[in-house]
Amino acid sequence: MPATIDSPTDLFSMPKQPPVIAIVVPCYNEQEVLPLSVPRLLGIITRMAEEGIASADSYIMLANDGSRDTTRDIIAGMHAADPVHVKGLSLSRNRGHQYALLAGLTSVAKRCDAAVSIDADLQDDPDAIIEMVKLFNAGAEIVYGVRSSRKTDTAFKRITAHAFYRFQRVMGLETVYDHADYRLMSRRAVGMLLSYGESNLFLRGIVPQIGLTTAVVTYERAARAAGESKYPLAKMLNFSIDGITSFSARPMRYIFLIGLILLLVDIAIGIWVLVSHFSGHAISGWSSLMLSIWFLGSLILIALGIIGEYVGKIFIEVKHRPRFFVSEELFD
Ligand code: UDP
Ligand code: MG
Repeated sequence: MPATIDSPTDLFSMPKQPPVIAIVVPCYNEQEVLPLSVPRLLGIITRMAEEGIASADSYIMLANDGSRDTTRDIIAGMHAADPVHVKGLSLSRNRGHQYALLAGLTSVAKRCDAAVSIDADLQDDPDAIIEMVKLFNAGAEIVYGVRSSRKTDTAFKRITAHAFYRFQRVMGLETVYDHADYRLMSRRAVGMLLSYGESNLFLRGIVPQIGLTTAVVTYERAARAAGESKYPLAKMLNFSIDGITSFSARPMRYIFLIGLILLLVDIAIGIWVLVSHFSGHAISGWSSLMLSIWFLGSLILIALGIIGEYVGKIFIEVKHRPRFFVSEELFD
């Protein structure tokens, strides 16, 4: 039983109607954007409450990721003005989007029926939250927000982002295409997510591993409302490499395969070297050097690949990931 889920009753409890929705927003230096996005999100909560699809006690959780501007004070002011609907927390320093999001989810995990995560800049259409909650009410436990187009992104961002998804696939990381961290998760799904103890966190890779009933909402992604992107190319590349290395041991297997291929190439090189040698085109010493360089090179790669396979197993074991989640039990 995952540590963060209290008891089987909690695990299997169904949300009360209408559900309390927590909207979790990671915020890093978002002083320009928060005064625009919080009222917009509050408006969505009001609409959902009026339509009876979510509780009027639904709220926003602003997770301040060690901002250097006035983000923290803005959050405190908003909380003071409306403590029921605006909550906040601050990390002790900047830890990155994924950790800010996780801190927010941890805080709301037991205080909501479902949590929606969305970026502070509202590039992801907040109206999609309403669709997500409807799907949640209809039984979906994880609802992915997926961009229908990237018209408003710069061409550079679009191309690099697509290369990023493709690269991840090849390297053995399963993610939902064009889905960032805009998603709804039921209280139970959040509990399961929190039971992943690994410190190198890549939520987009972990969430699809949880399973449960999932659904997708598509939306148009807008340009940033204010401020600038906190994800320049270098950060995106780091994020991608982190994602791959925390999910897949496939790069090591590629090394092993390259070693095997080189061993085959050796045969061709060997024939060429021997032909040159016996036809007298080779200076002395060249043939033996050529043969040993190629042969040893491929042997070293194969050996590294084999070690890599074991390191890969160790890597999977030390993560202590939950092995499975039972979503339903028919016992008595
Ligand atoms: N963010 C964060 N910590 C960071 C960087 C970003 O909490 O170190 C938050 C940021 O405030 C925003 C979200 O993560 O809510 C996505 O960042 P951004 O919009 O800059 O990324 P982009 O949309 O350009 O990929
Ligand atoms: Mg953004």
